[in-house]
Amino acid sequence: MVPKGIRNLIGNAKGYGKCLKCGDSWYWKKGHSTVYDVRDDGSTGCFPLCEECWAGLTPEERLPYYLRMYSVWGGEDKWSKIKKAVLEGR
Ligand SMILES: [Zn+2]
Repeated sequence: MVPKGIRNLIGNAKGYGKCLKCGDSWYWKKGHSTVYDVRDDGSTGCFPLCEECWAGLTPEERLPYYLRMYSVWGGEDKWSKIKKAVLEGR
Protein backbone atom coordinates (compact mmCIF):
# COMPACT_ATOMS: atom_id res chain seq x y z
CA MET A 1 0.00 0.00 0.00
CA VAL A 2 1.23 3.50 -0.82
CA PRO A 3 2.17 5.38 2.39
CA LYS A 4 -0.33 7.94 3.67
CA GLY A 5 2.09 10.85 3.18
CA ILE A 6 2.49 9.99 -0.51
CA ARG A 7 -1.27 9.63 -1.01
CA ASN A 8 -1.75 13.06 0.61
CA LEU A 9 0.87 14.59 -1.72
CA ILE A 10 -0.89 13.11 -4.75
CA GLY A 11 -4.22 14.44 -3.45
CA ASN A 12 -2.74 17.94 -2.99
CA ALA A 13 -1.25 17.85 -6.48
CA LYS A 14 -4.61 16.87 -7.93
CA GLY A 15 -6.29 19.75 -6.10
CA TYR A 16 -8.29 17.74 -3.58
CA GLY A 17 -9.18 19.35 -0.26
CA LYS A 18 -8.17 17.83 3.04
CA CYS A 19 -9.22 17.28 6.63
CA LEU A 20 -8.47 20.45 8.61
CA LYS A 21 -7.42 18.41 11.66
CA CYS A 22 -5.25 15.52 10.44
CA GLY A 23 -4.48 16.87 6.95
CA ASP A 24 -5.48 13.67 5.13
CA SER A 25 -6.61 14.27 1.55
CA TRP A 26 -10.13 13.71 0.19
CA TYR A 27 -8.31 12.00 -2.66
CA TRP A 28 -8.34 8.80 -0.60
CA LYS A 29 -10.18 9.53 2.64
CA LYS A 30 -13.86 10.18 3.17
CA GLY A 31 -14.94 13.44 4.79
CA HIS A 32 -17.84 13.67 7.21
CA SER A 33 -20.53 15.56 5.35
CA THR A 34 -22.50 17.98 7.54
CA VAL A 35 -25.72 18.95 5.82
CA TYR A 36 -26.67 22.45 6.98
CA ASP A 37 -29.20 23.53 4.39
CA VAL A 38 -32.05 21.42 2.99
CA ARG A 39 -34.20 22.87 0.23
CA ASP A 40 -36.62 21.47 -2.32
CA ASP A 41 -33.92 21.66 -5.00
CA GLY A 42 -31.38 19.76 -2.94
CA SER A 43 -29.34 19.92 0.21
CA THR A 44 -26.02 21.63 0.87
CA GLY A 45 -23.28 20.17 3.00
CA CYS A 46 -19.68 20.79 3.94
CA PHE A 47 -16.88 18.54 5.21
CA PRO A 48 -13.92 20.17 6.98
CA LEU A 49 -13.21 16.96 8.95
CA CYS A 50 -12.75 13.31 8.04
CA GLU A 51 -15.04 10.72 9.65
CA GLU A 52 -12.31 9.69 12.12
CA CYS A 53 -11.55 13.19 13.37
CA TRP A 54 -15.24 14.10 13.41
CA ALA A 55 -16.09 11.06 15.54
CA GLY A 56 -13.31 11.86 18.01
CA LEU A 57 -14.57 15.35 18.83
CA THR A 58 -17.59 16.78 20.62
CA PRO A 59 -19.82 19.21 18.66
CA GLU A 60 -18.26 22.15 20.55
CA GLU A 61 -14.75 20.92 19.71
CA ARG A 62 -15.71 20.53 16.03
CA LEU A 63 -16.93 24.09 15.67
CA PRO A 64 -13.50 25.81 15.29
CA TYR A 65 -12.73 23.63 12.22
CA TYR A 66 -15.99 24.61 10.57
CA LEU A 67 -15.27 28.26 11.35
CA ARG A 68 -11.82 27.93 9.78
CA MET A 69 -13.37 26.40 6.67
CA TYR A 70 -16.04 29.09 6.57
CA SER A 71 -13.55 31.94 6.98
CA VAL A 72 -11.96 30.81 3.69
CA TRP A 73 -15.33 30.70 1.91
CA GLY A 74 -16.43 34.21 2.87
CA GLY A 75 -19.33 35.61 0.88
CA GLU A 76 -22.92 34.79 1.70
CA ASP A 77 -23.70 34.43 5.38
CA LYS A 78 -24.29 30.75 6.02
CA TRP A 79 -22.44 30.59 9.31
CA SER A 80 -25.55 30.59 11.53
CA LYS A 81 -26.92 27.57 9.61
CA ILE A 82 -23.58 25.73 9.71
CA LYS A 83 -23.09 26.43 13.42
CA LYS A 84 -26.59 25.16 14.20
CA ALA A 85 -26.03 21.95 12.22
CA VAL A 86 -22.66 21.28 13.89
CA LEU A 87 -23.98 21.84 17.41
CA GLU A 88 -26.91 19.55 16.66
CA GLY A 89 -24.34 16.83 15.96
CA ARG A 90 -24.83 16.60 12.20
ZN1 LIG B 1 -8.99 13.97 9.86
